Amino acid sequence: MQADLQAQLSKIPIVKQAKNVIVFLGDGTSISTLTAARLEKGLRTGNFEHEVMTYETFPYSTLIKTYSADKVVTDSAASATAYLTGVKGNQATIGVDANVLLNDCDAMNVPQFHTKSILRNFQEAGKSTGIVTVTRVTHASPAGNYAHTAERHWESDDDVNDAEEDSELCDDVAEQLVLGETGSQIKVILGGGRQKFTPKGVDDPEDGDGGKRDDGKNLIETWVNQKTLLGNASYVWHRNDLLGVDTSTTDYLLGLFDWSHMSYYVDKDTSNPTLEEMTRAALEILTRDSNGFYLFVEGGLIDRAHHLNEHRSAIEEALEFEKAIALADSMTDPEDTLILVTADHSQPVVINGYQDRGSDVLGLADYSDVDGLPYTAIMYTNGPGYRGEKDGSRPDPSEEDYTDPHYLGAATVPMIESNHAGEDVFLYARGPHAHLFTGIHENAYIPHAVRYAACVGDGLQFCSAKGAKEGREEEQTEGEEEE
Ligand SMILES: [Zn+2]
Repeated sequence: MQADLQAQLSKIPIVKQAKNVIVFLGDGTSISTLTAARLEKGLRTGNFEHEVMTYETFPYSTLIKTYSADKVVTDSAASATAYLTGVKGNQATIGVDANVLLNDCDAMNVPQFHTKSILRNFQEAGKSTGIVTVTRVTHASPAGNYAHTAERHWESDDDVNDAEEDSELCDDVAEQLVLGETGSQIKVILGGGRQKFTPKGVDDPEDGDGGKRDDGKNLIETWVNQKTLLGNASYVWHRNDLLGVDTSTTDYLLGLFDWSHMSYYVDKDTSNPTLEEMTRAALEILTRDSNGFYLFVEGGLIDRAHHLNEHRSAIEEALEFEKAIALADSMTDPEDTLILVTADHSQPVVINGYQDRGSDVLGLADYSDVDGLPYTAIMYTNGPGYRGEKDGSRPDPSEEDYTDPHYLGAATVPMIESNHAGEDVFLYARGPHAHLFTGIHENAYIPHAVRYAACVGDGLQFCSAKGAKEGREEEQTEGEEEE
């Protein structure tokens, strides 16, 4: 504890321009998820409760308030608008302010209602940008970087048509990624979701159910054709091909490794790279830009697994998320690269009971003093893990295989999928101006602080504030000399 105190006393803010910014977003990654991941990692390393995760070594952290413009508990779309563009939007809308209501195609096309992401700010400042996720690249969180839509589910024109809206008028998210002003300038795009990019009738290399687009557009081919004119471009859909990419000469990289979301880590799909492998490829390409870069990396399946109440799978995803963060930490310099690690919202998952030290948090906790049956340490307040009663009592988890990676954690209220939860989330920061992240802030504060640190976009900027301050100091010094 004295060493901890020493470290705290020796913290010095890095007051420099952030040349590069990396945002790590753990979808649905509540604080209890992080604690469980730490305990599980500690069990494997033998450090138990003393385990330290990479982001826990970051010098600054803050709590983040996540409510959206219209809901106390946010979804990933409205949250992405806030933490990536700096404005709170309505539930299930992306990259538009609260003037745009859900499904309002006309309003979503009004330029004044569009919000600008920090990714876009970096592009306008002449820097390179990239997005990496294990979900579809058109899913809500990554889309928050480049899309403007009144409905997060309008990922392909087929989705827009299904909603009986005009897909000619309301551009789908995949089209915005390949043809949009911001999306078309992203240099590295890695994740899942091929179905949103290819037309009906076009077979998928892995899945019998092929393309989903109604408009006949093959956006993967379009991307390849466009980017080949601009530089060295590669499209890959298999892990082996990603690992074979020469990142020292590649300027543009599109990787779509699954028909929909990528597979859960516990399912060990050999065609899927890990989040860490994708992050490495992205960083190797983006760090070649001497002007700097912005990279968004999402641990997107932590939330998906929680929605299914599969806490064992969710924790594995959280551990994979940490590996990607550790890699980025080792590949970049805190003197010029600001790294943020945060979540978009919580999940209704808790760690309860009085396990002995050194226990497996994914195992049993204790026995109920009412029915005498054991219960697991991790549980949900709602979701498909609801079991009801059998013969007048709740099922005994010790008679179930809770070591199965897809084991359903117990839930109190039955739901097809869990809801999100509304308490604050964490944010860890290291690098230039990481000290702007202490205390408690709105999610919409994050982009404002990033713009200040990186000297991009509108609002206060460190570079101009510094210039003004130096000017004032000079004036003062001159004044003193005259006296
Ligand atoms: Zn969710």
